[in-house]
This record gives sequence, C-alpha cells and structure tokens, in this order.
Amino acid sequence: MLTIRFELVTGERLVYSDDVDMIIAPGTEGELGILPRHTPLLTGLQPGELRLKKGAEEISIVITGGFMEVLPDKVTVLADAAERAEEIDIARAEAARQRALERLQQRAGDADLAKAQASLQRAVARLKVAKRKRRPGGTVRQELGE
Ligand code: ATP
Repeated sequence: MLTIRFELVTGERLVYSDDVDMIIAPGTEGELGILPRHTPLLTGLQPGELRLKKGAEEISIVITGGFMEVLPDKVTVLADAAERAEEIDIARAEAARQRALERLQQRAGDADLAKAQASLQRAVARLKVAKRKRRPGGTVRQELGE
C-alpha cells in the first residue's frame, strides 16, 4: 500500500516521524484528510486532535495549533505544542482548564481574555484526546470525573 512520510515537530522536540497511510488534521478551515499523492498545500492548524492511520493502528496526537505543509510524498507539521494521547497529563490539563475558566469569569482586559480563551481551548483539546483514547481503561474515567 502506498504510504506518505509524516513528521511532526515542535520548537522543543521531534514528536513523530514515520511512514503512514493517512493523516487527519484539524485545519483552521475544518478537518483535513491527507492521503499519499495529495495536492501540495500549506495550511494553519487549530487546537485539536491529529490522527494518523498506519495499518490497523491509529495514533492520536493533540496539537495546540501550528502549520502543516503537504507535499505529494511528505507532510510536515510544525506545532506550537503536541503530545501523543498517552503522554497527556490529565490533571495538569484539568488544572489549566480551571485556571482559564476562573480568568474568564473575572472578565479581565481584552488581552487577558484572549489569552484565557486560548488557554481554555488548549486544555479542552488535551482533555478530549486523552478522554477518547483512555475511556476503555477504567481508572482514567475517575481522573476525568466521570
Ligand atoms: P500549562 O498551563 O499546564 O503549562 P499550557 O497550555 O500553557 O498548559 P503549553 O504552552 O501549550 O501549555 O505547553 C507547554 C509545554 O508543556 C509543552 O511542551 C507541552 O507539550 C507541555 N504540556 C502542556 N500541558 C500538558 C499536559 N496536560 N500534558 C502533557 N504535556 C503538557
């Protein structure tokens, strides 16, 4: 089967690099499915889940925004921050979500409001990806307060 090279980097580290069958990314204009030999494009990404299909495996990664370059044989993502589902610290994301909600309730200045909204979006994206992947595990359900 035809595959496509996928690389995901942040300013801190190489998060993923391998040949995959398909990439599903949270584009700023909506979800984008990329197969090998896709038309070249450059797009912004919003906070959300990036999924990779590789054989029977599906890899789930949360990204907090960034850019994606698509070439027919290679896709490169430069993300602000990214964690594979199993790397997400749920307690930390929950704490970040609470902090952001408190800041939004305090209705600070516009700049602070925008920052709190962005922070809330990152935390919610992390919790969604962690939740979707770990639901069958059981113990994490409690961590998530379900
Ligand atoms: P926090 O307020 O908890 O730092 P944040 O949204 O401000 O959250 P980012 O600026 O997006 O954090 O990321 C900073 C670094 O911390 C990145 O390396 C990112 O991968 C990591 N990181 C942030 N939150 C988590 C989390 N819940 N689990 C694992 N890594 C995280």
